[in-house]
Amino acid sequence: REKMRRRIESGDKWFSLEFFPPRTAQGAVNLISSSQMVVKDDASPGAVLQKHIPYRFDRMGAGGPLFIDVTWHPAGDPGSDKETSSMVIASTAVNYCGLETILHMTCCRQSREEITGHLHRAKRLGLKNILALRGDPIGEQWEEEEGGFSYATDLVKHIRSEFGDYFDICVAGYPKGHPEAESFEADVKYLKEKVSAGADFIITQLFFEADTFFQFVKACTEIGITCPILPGIFPIQGYHSLRQLVKLSKLEVPQEIKDVIEPIKDNDAAIRNYGIELAVRLCKELLASGLVPGLHFYTLNREVAIIEVLKRLGMWTEDPRRPLPWAISAHPKRRE
Ligand code: FAD
Repeated sequence: REKMRRRIESGDKWFSLEFFPPRTAQGAVNLISSSQMVVKDDASPGAVLQKHIPYRFDRMGAGGPLFIDVTWHPAGDPGSDKETSSMVIASTAVNYCGLETILHMTCCRQSREEITGHLHRAKRLGLKNILALRGDPIGEQWEEEEGGFSYATDLVKHIRSEFGDYFDICVAGYPKGHPEAESFEADVKYLKEKVSAGADFIITQLFFEADTFFQFVKACTEIGITCPILPGIFPIQGYHSLRQLVKLSKLEVPQEIKDVIEPIKDNDAAIRNYGIELAVRLCKELLASGLVPGLHFYTLNREVAIIEVLKRLGMWTEDPRRPLPWAISAHPKRRE
């Protein structure tokens, strides 16, 4: 298998898509199951047709992403076995949908044995890429853990020491600096340690202005980080989802964006159109800089805006000959 880094640096402009494991059964159905819909047959009034609605992985996979990635539920998330749902969704994507998949994994508040168990399970399920993260304990202040995993760097080292080169490893980068970091410079220094511990590439937190990314790449280059840095793009798709994400990531929305959004906050279509315009502009600037090998999208499990952005960038190359995922997984070669 060609290493992910080689594919990232292939020179062809690509895109990738982040999904989260659905919290409800209906959410899971929307993401991974297809459905039949009864529609009127325009050609013969009174008659109906069965129309096949492919599932979201299928629809998004049709555009040819380089990879998709599946997030890991925050440590201490109450309720069901959330780690399992991340693993199940990621395994479905890779084994049944034929999508190259990265599984996020956080390490805080988990024992060495638990983490090793998750990694062995991921390997058994055919997953080959891990986004190694520290994570944030829910409702608690994060604290360094004696003998445990305190930072993502510890997880990267653990994966390399237990699994060698089996997994391709990605880590997170923060163009504005991580919110808890002593300083931007200190954060970039720790990022360098994460990469030196064995990470193959970096995906960034979302940001709103191309310049923020350019400054970040400059700081990374100056400190000696040479691996690919993938920009995390978040097309604004709704007022509430923006507010929620910004609160979670502790980011500031630039005033000029707030000025446009506030007056249209109850008009979903207007916000989405504005989000598409903004994302297209940002992506064009990034691509023109020659600093990005491709574009990584935070989808929030929604597809309309992302597909539109990619179409406007000329990067959505739907291939009618690409077999549908269920056809791939039914194919004898694919099942091997
Ligand atoms: P680290 O790299 O460990 O850094 C955390 C903080 O510690 C930083 O302030 C850093 O400067 C500092 N630091 C690092 N090393 C040291 C050291 N040796 N000494 C002192 N300080 C140090 N969260 C989830 O729960 N699930 C997900 O799936 C998920 N996916 C994400 C994907 C991306 C692309 C990004 C950007 C974030 C994601 N997060 C996710 C959020 C992430 O878990 C939080 O941002 C978390 O607070 C930091 O994780 P990290 O891996 O970046 O931490």
